Amino acid sequence: MRIYLDNASTTPIHPEVLEVMHKVLTEDFGNPSSIHHYGRKARSIIEQARKVVAKTINASIGEVFFTSSATEANNMVLKNAVKDLGIQRIISSPTEHHCVLHSLDNIQSEGKCEVIMLSVNRYGNIDYDQLKLLLEDKSIKSLVSIMHGNNEIGTMHDIKRIGQLCKDNGALFHCDTVQTIGKYPIDVQTTYINFLSGSAHKFHGPKGVGFVFISNESMLSPFIHGGAQERNMRAGTENVAGIAGLAKALEISSENIAKNHQKVQQLRTLFKSLIDEKLTDIHYNGVQNDNFMVHVLSVSFPAGPKADMLVMNLDIAGISASSGSACSAGIEEDSHVLIAIGHPSERKTIRFSFSPFNTEDEIRITVEKLNYLTKGSD
Ligand code: PLP
Repeated sequence: MRIYLDNASTTPIHPEVLEVMHKVLTEDFGNPSSIHHYGRKARSIIEQARKVVAKTINASIGEVFFTSSATEANNMVLKNAVKDLGIQRIISSPTEHHCVLHSLDNIQSEGKCEVIMLSVNRYGNIDYDQLKLLLEDKSIKSLVSIMHGNNEIGTMHDIKRIGQLCKDNGALFHCDTVQTIGKYPIDVQTTYINFLSGSAHKFHGPKGVGFVFISNESMLSPFIHGGAQERNMRAGTENVAGIAGLAKALEISSENIAKNHQKVQQLRTLFKSLIDEKLTDIHYNGVQNDNFMVHVLSVSFPAGPKADMLVMNLDIAGISASSGSACSAGIEEDSHVLIAIGHPSERKTIRFSFSPFNTEDEIRITVEKLNYLTKGSD
């Protein structure tokens, strides 16, 4: 039996989602652009899915577009906001996902827009005072791009506060909600957000399909050119089964937010208390008291050869988790997020991430293995 504790990376597909997708792939396989029966059926599946997404975030259906991924959605928003809306300055943070950071590198290299990175503290919180101060200079048309929840360390940003700061100062707000959509309620009517992205495979849907919310007040032009799909916003024949799967997965997650939250929180609490009981010199990265995502626990282990091999040895023992390092030029180093929060580079971080499909038994087995694999002489 294998244990999967890498749910921030991707999640197993929900059986009901698979059923919906199977039906679309086998029976409703028409091209949504065709005007015959099969095409019309496929089109209505997409429009139904759009309603589900719009309802989940309280947007209007005209503000929701399907994409191939959240990576595409974030690229589209950042690059086209500069191109279409005359954004002169983007304010972001060094703990954003690479699809945001590398898009910003690209934007900056073209010299059309200034990019400013906010300071983050050792818990991964942004400096809200710095943001306020920057936004007070209203002479520069600004976009703030800050994620809702951090995929590596679990720290959540106060998006209501960021949105309000943007609104008060005439700036736009882009929020990567990949790790939180379907897990936390998000309402674009009560939180000032202009752009938001999501990805189906993070909430038990399929890979290769995402969506972008673009508010009517800050509409963009297409990012991918071609046919008239997605009301001319995103060319390319739609991934109908993927879109249907995304909607079903989002519907199931959104209906079960409270129940899933409680279950996952219990798993995390148990995991943490067993680690604290059995292992020594353990640190946790990211916020631990409030405003953290319950499905992520980033654990920092003391240095040593056993720690270096831990993710691999866990995998050999049947447990899949994620290392907090990136391989750069053949040398393993802390990820950009861990570097940004000043994680001591000699320690080793492993990210464990949970879903409602995990069990308490899996948590107990994992901590026992961790105990075994970290004890003894190095
Ligand atoms: N943003 C965050 C916070 C993520 O965790 C991920 C996926 O790891 C992405 C964006 C990219 O999503 P996708 O896999 O749909 O490109």
